[in-house]
Amino acid sequence: METAARGAPRGGGGERLLGELEARVQDVVRASSWWERHGLDCSILALSLLALPPGFLCLRSENVLVFVLGITILGVCHYTLTVKGSHLATHGALTESRRWSKIWAHFFVEVCTAFPAEDARYGHVKMHHGYTNVLGLGDSSTWRLPCLNRYVYMFLAPLLIPIITPLVAVERLRKVRLGAALRALGLISLGLYSHYWLLRHMSGFRSPASALACMLCTRSLLAHPYLHVNVFQHIGLPMFSRDKKPRRIHMMSLGVLNLPRLPVLDWAFGHSIISCHVEHHLFPTLSDNMCLKVKPVVSQFLREKQLPYNEDTYLARFRLFLSHYEELLVHAPPITELAGLQ
Ligand SMILES: [Zn+2]
Repeated sequence: METAARGAPRGGGGERLLGELEARVQDVVRASSWWERHGLDCSILALSLLALPPGFLCLRSENVLVFVLGITILGVCHYTLTVKGSHLATHGALTESRRWSKIWAHFFVEVCTAFPAEDARYGHVKMHHGYTNVLGLGDSSTWRLPCLNRYVYMFLAPLLIPIITPLVAVERLRKVRLGAALRALGLISLGLYSHYWLLRHMSGFRSPASALACMLCTRSLLAHPYLHVNVFQHIGLPMFSRDKKPRRIHMMSLGVLNLPRLPVLDWAFGHSIISCHVEHHLFPTLSDNMCLKVKPVVSQFLREKQLPYNEDTYLARFRLFLSHYEELLVHAPPITELAGLQ
């Protein structure tokens, strides 16, 4: 584990380095238009909403190819709205207006994803981003299911994500204040019921069971890469202890990994989750398109300062997790000693 830390300079200066990088990134942001900052990503989300009616109508067809096309459209749109949409909305990266950021978070996280927006914000923004790879805080341990064997975890468990998500949501709502819990419950039920209603009335599914099976099918279309990417990006990289966590720039440079660009996943999950995860962890309020735009600046800066810039392919990570499953996803990860970076 210590090898990954070797490239990092010893001694302080973390704040100064981050300040220097922030200034370079700010220059890029200031020189960017509204279209680049928000417009492009908002258009992808709008297109995903507009593609829903044709997707539901394709499922009326007797033709197998048209039916499969309908499932694909609805599945990809579901992931674009729930992963890309929820992620950007939770970070307030869709708009500069605070009010609209809140509204989008309720829409994408609660109506589309069936998860409480407040809980998503706390778990993702505050804990995962604030304490990336810090054991017991933002260490991605929610993704560990040590009771499952490697094949069940990597191949079968993802299919259960659409069922587990609303169940976890209900459990989490018990801890939220009553008003927020009722609002979240109402919006989650609205999202799930409208999906079911559209399948029965627009797509023409005759029985409740077939409509529910179709819901499960589209909602788990990209569940495999979703689960895999979430563990590939952080697990297996240096882990930090609560009292000796490194400075922000070292925490992100050591504890975050980028995958190469993958067209379907770039579209449905967003660059900030796939090829610009390091950039996203350093500048979480930038949209997907802006993360892609600042990527050359960030990667060059980290290399210039001899800080790690972790990159690996999906296939290489997949093989690593399958072969080192026990070590990476079953046992508690060891803490990396980072002298001088705290
Ligand atoms: Zn994030």
